[in-house]
This record gives sequence, structure tokens and C-alpha cells, in this order.
Amino acid sequence: AEQTLILVKPDGVARGLTGEILRRIEAKGYAVTGLRMLSADRELLAAHYAEHAGKPFYEPLIDFMSSGPTVAIRAEGDRVIEGFRSLAGTTDPTAAAPGTIRGDLGRDWGLKVQQNLVHGSDSPESAARELALWFA
Ligand code: ATP
Repeated sequence: AEQTLILVKPDGVARGLTGEILRRIEAKGYAVTGLRMLSADRELLAAHYAEHAGKPFYEPLIDFMSSGPTVAIRAEGDRVIEGFRSLAGTTDPTAAAPGTIRGDLGRDWGLKVQQNLVHGSDSPESAARELALWFA
């Protein structure tokens, strides 16, 4: 079956939403086949977010993502990459549709980066690359 990398970002962990996010993944019918909590260092984050290097939100994003523990999840199921991105909702939590993780649980905090609770890989290539980084 297809695999994806899901992250509960530091805002989600700090707000105690890890269980709720895992519940939604499992309730949708995806299998959780890997689970790890870690405080990501800047080297891991630079590799993970290489495509965003140089963008205005890059430094705030790395600062935010290194501000506390993250929960990394390997999830499996047919079309799980697309399915989890649908569960997560759009990047901006204020605009994200109700019913989604970001739409139900997230909001804007007026900061320089979207603290939007979760990450999900966006393609099979990204998933393979990101799973190798976070489950090394
Ligand atoms: P993710 O990849 O985390 O699932 P995404 O695909 O919706 O989210 P990307 O475009 O890959 O978003 O951006 C990665 C992360 O960088 C976002 O989740 C968000 O935290 C932050 N980010 C992206 N765009 C902006 C922006 N314009 N302003 C502030 N933060 C941003």
C-alpha cells in the first residue's frame, strides 16, 4: 500500500492534539505503521524543507519547527497521500474548511509562519524522501 509521512508539528504536540490527530488518521481507515517523537534539529529541518530555502517564511518556519517536540507518523493505505492532505485541509488554518484538522483545530496566531498543526507529504517521491529523513 502507499505510504506517507505525517508530522504533528510542535504547535499540535504542545496543544495536546496528538491523540486527536492520530484518531482522525485511524478513523479514516489508514494504518499507523511507524510512530516516533523527536525534537528535530536544524539539519533535519533544512533537509526536510529544502524546497523552501530562501523564502520569506523559511527562517521562521525552521525556528517554529525546532521549538519543541514533533510526532512523526508513517501511515499506509490506498491513496493515503491525497487522503491525508484532504483530512489536513489547506495550508492557512483560517481558510481551511471545517471538518479538516486545520479547519477544526487551527487558527491564525499573527506570527510570521503558519502554525498549522500538521504536515503531510505531497507526492510518492516526497513521501519516500521524507520517511527516510524522519525514520532514519
Ligand atoms: P505541509 O507541507 O506542511 O503539509 P503545505 O504543503 O500546505 O503544508 P508548504 O507550501 O509545503 O505547505 O509549506 C510548508 C509550511 O511552511 C506550511 O505548512 C506552513 O507552516 C509554512 N508556510 C507555507 N507558506 C507560508 C506562508 N506564505 N506564510 C507563512 N508560512 C507559510
